[in-house]
Amino acid sequence: MKNKVVIATSNKHKFAEMQECLISIFDVVYSLTDLGISIDAEETGSTFLENSKIKALDISRKVNLPVIADDSGLSICSLNDFPGIYSSRFMENETYENKCKEIIRLLEDKIDRSAYYTCAITFIDKKRDIFKQIERRSEGCIVKEYKKREHGFGYDPIFFSDEAGEIFGNISKEEKFKYSHRGKAIRDLVSFLRELYS
Ligand code: IMP
Repeated sequence: MKNKVVIATSNKHKFAEMQECLISIFDVVYSLTDLGISIDAEETGSTFLENSKIKALDISRKVNLPVIADDSGLSICSLNDFPGIYSSRFMENETYENKCKEIIRLLEDKIDRSAYYTCAITFIDKKRDIFKQIERRSEGCIVKEYKKREHGFGYDPIFFSDEAGEIFGNISKEEKFKYSHRGKAIRDLVSFLRELYS
């Protein structure tokens, strides 16, 4: 019988980043688009972990499959970790170009430009008896100027990663995954799942 899993996201960038790692464990990795379903639950949690659990449970109730849900975002230290869990809801109907430019404007008079991405993941097994949560970060800072970049998505054009020594928007998906919050969290999850499914 084939091992299958659902990644509870409709964001094709996030899906692409996570799918490759998971294919070493699962024979089939579905996105929500593949299954024609969506997350209906509201993100009412006050932390990334809580919100990833809300998403995972919502999808787990709709499919008879293991589910992996992530909640992620960018936190800016001198803005009291804003936008944080509100990263996707901040200026919701605006383009990411405008959101990035607004963040640069908010930091105009700040000396501290440090920021970090967080990725929280919740895994729930098919029978809902195994539950695993992981949270990992990727540290860096916000650059002073907005430019369109070749790679990445969301806030990547303005996020300089300390570990990569480069702006995420300037490096390939594979390179970013070595240092990103999501790469770290998924690799930890894969180690856990290897044990579970071996
Ligand atoms: P979520 O889909 O509710 O978890 O929202 C995640 C938000 O954080 C979105 O606005 C993303 O653009 C942003 N975000 C999360 N991870 C990344 C990343 O790796 N690069 C750029 N933006 C990200």
